[in-house]
Amino acid sequence: MTTTQQKRAQLEKYHDVAGPFAYLRLAQMKRAWKKSNRRELTWWEKTYIPGVFVGLWITSKHFFRNLALHILHLFGLFKGIPAAVTYQYPEQPRPTGARLRTRHRLTKREDGSPRCVACMMCETVCPARCIEITAAEHPDPNIEKYPAEFILDLGKCVYCGFCVEVCPEDAIRMDTGRHDIAEYSRESMIYDKKRLMED
Ligand code: SF4
Ligand code: SF4
Repeated sequence: MTTTQQKRAQLEKYHDVAGPFAYLRLAQMKRAWKKSNRRELTWWEKTYIPGVFVGLWITSKHFFRNLALHILHLFGLFKGIPAAVTYQYPEQPRPTGARLRTRHRLTKREDGSPRCVACMMCETVCPARCIEITAAEHPDPNIEKYPAEFILDLGKCVYCGFCVEVCPEDAIRMDTGRHDIAEYSRESMIYDKKRLMED
């Protein structure tokens, strides 16, 4: 991997530019070079007619290709080839990066109970104060506590991910891939334990 220092050293070596403004100086040099070496347009190009036809050709090519594919899809043909680059949301959600922080979920044990041990770490670290846990004694003596209720107000959450990072039990994650959490009221943005365990 090329570090910033290595890049700077290359710049100094090949372009005779140095110092903290080397990148800026190089960009100026490139712009000046392009300006002085720009090709003069021919009289035909100056009419813009070739440019207009090239633009029409590119637009028409995509239009007729997509139109043909949409018609073929109606007959159940070539379904594997997308007819347009547009995602057909919400039927076709856009793929998200694996590291993107999306809506929270509470992970479960094998018996379906929450992994959370109500240690209150996430509630304590949350900068938006949007987590509220009610701890209760667990019937299993090997597990000290469990969350009788786990409230997360997504209307206040800033998606910082601190709750996920601080959790010692991997009990809360932000990997549902859901970010379409719009609701009609603030109350609907408040998720309880049951809702957080659905995904
Ligand atoms: S992501 Fe940040 S703001 Fe949201 S619940 Fe977790 S700690 Fe709180
Ligand atoms: S940090 Fe993890 S184990 Fe502790 S209360 Fe939060 S979700 Fe539960």
